[in-house]
Amino acid sequence: MTLKQIITLPDPFLRITAKPVNRVTRGIKKLLNDMLETMYDANGIGLASTQIKDDRRLIVMDCGKLNERYNENEERELDPNPIKMINPVLMFQSSDLVEREEGCLSIPGHQGKVKRPKLVKVSYIDENEVKKEFDADGLLATCIQHEIDHLNGVLFIDYLSRLKKDMIMKKVTKEYNNTR
Ligand code: ZN
Repeated sequence: MTLKQIITLPDPFLRITAKPVNRVTRGIKKLLNDMLETMYDANGIGLASTQIKDDRRLIVMDCGKLNERYNENEERELDPNPIKMINPVLMFQSSDLVEREEGCLSIPGHQGKVKRPKLVKVSYIDENEVKKEFDADGLLATCIQHEIDHLNGVLFIDYLSRLKKDMIMKKVTKEYNNTR
């Protein structure tokens, strides 16, 4: 496996619209594995292809899966739950919204509250070229929407107030220029 470099704002590649995948090649399977590895290495719960400068519609996520074990504090433990999606499409988004604090591996150090549909249905092709579909809620629903947004060049800061967005853009642009 190969760790990929995650690009950060204001890299213009984050604003492209990624293209649909026609055939699931070995190269794509390898890239999905590399993306998962890169995401885990960066302590993220989701990563989209555009964040590693690839223009095909691919996302990976791991929001964990509840298991039946309880620890001493009676808190549920999470098992790993890696998900790889090719050409993901939202088939349904509830009118019910939920607000959650979001961050992004491409906008390190910044968070913001974003309101999104609470429930979604997503359809996609898996790495074996099988068409799949499932309903999601909670953190996974937010994550799926955040990652599909990336494939359309949309970032979570686009949902913030103009003031907050401008403030973040100003900071990241200054940092970006300082490292060049
Ligand atoms: Zn992101």
